[in-house]
Amino acid sequence: MSEQFLIPTYARQPIAFVRGQGVWLYDEQGKAYLDAVSGVAVCNLGHCHPAVVQALREQSERLMHTSNLYRIPVQERLAERLCQLSGMDKVFFGNSGAEANEAAIKLARLHGRRRGVEKPVVLVMEGSFHGRTMATLSATANQKVQEGFGPLLEGFRRLPYDNLDAVHQAADDNVVAVLVEPVQGEGGVNAASPGYLQKLRELCDQRGWLLMLDEIQTGNGRTGTYFACQAEQVRPDVLTTAKGLGNGFPIGACLVSGAASDLFGPGNHGSTFGGNPLGCAVALAVIDTLQDGVLEQVADKGEALRAQLREALSGVSLVQEVRGRGMMVGIQLDRPCGELVDRAREAGLLINVTAGSVIRLLPPLIISDAERDQLVHTLSTVIHRYADEQEAS
Ligand code: PLP
Repeated sequence: MSEQFLIPTYARQPIAFVRGQGVWLYDEQGKAYLDAVSGVAVCNLGHCHPAVVQALREQSERLMHTSNLYRIPVQERLAERLCQLSGMDKVFFGNSGAEANEAAIKLARLHGRRRGVEKPVVLVMEGSFHGRTMATLSATANQKVQEGFGPLLEGFRRLPYDNLDAVHQAADDNVVAVLVEPVQGEGGVNAASPGYLQKLRELCDQRGWLLMLDEIQTGNGRTGTYFACQAEQVRPDVLTTAKGLGNGFPIGACLVSGAASDLFGPGNHGSTFGGNPLGCAVALAVIDTLQDGVLEQVADKGEALRAQLREALSGVSLVQEVRGRGMMVGIQLDRPCGELVDRAREAGLLINVTAGSVIRLLPPLIISDAERDQLVHTLSTVIHRYADEQEAS
């Protein structure tokens, strides 16, 4: 095994997994790890869920790919299903989150041009993450990931997250859309305040802007409703999703409604692989399974996880807050804590640290009570030990 021939774009952990089942990943020696990252909010149904495996196997034996030159019945079925469960009108399929957001950004520009705006501006938020392609990188508010890639695309204006006054103040004739995550993931598991999305919706309606929600991480059941915006009965004009939609098979989607529904026409946008029969068959199986008793438990499981963590970590002074929505959990520490990833892994638990000092937990939604207890026990033991050492030093 050697990384010699890989462009080193990732700071990988020194471990490889060879098998997965449910919330568990197994390394080459057969050691089991409780996966509280889920491939970064991808394997919402856990690893190798039988329904997903079956859909993949059956569709791959029948037909994997044709092309968007032709009609694709299973793509049409998936689009209908996504629209039914989200209240959106139409769907464009791609292969990733960034690609879904690229479509959203193009839609915003078309929307602006149609309204006679020559230099359309999309309002984006501090702490956001929208992807690594040039447009999504430009929309992303993380200077570290932008460094060295200038000139970035123009047409984005950055505002503080969860701050309606800032949005009001930024309003001018060039603004055409707002792009926002209902809960910021990479930014540190920051949930917008109740009412924020609704108020944004009202403002977008008043101003004729598109409300574009990036639900790439929050979608597909992660926060307790199929899409996070549904908890607040907010219907955006554009909704992007990916990650959990394929549970490991790469598929992304850009859903549109209202003013955004008739912007793209033939030739405006496309993707060779996007929405191919294999990906769509898998995504349909994912949705079926999520709706068959998984989704309805996510909110309670998430609350229980946060409550257990708060209890297990009470009295640890470097833990400032346990927060999140559904099974998207953030533990805010008062200091950079990246080394906890290694310590937890050595204890058989996979976690993620984002925004420097936030432990992010994204366990599979199918986690059992006993597995959740184990997660809390292992993590709190690791944090307690770390806190004791930090105090002693
Ligand atoms: N948007 C959000 C909110 C994300 O969390 C991510 C990935 O972490 C992306 C966009 C980019 O998705 P992808 O890596 O599939 O391009």
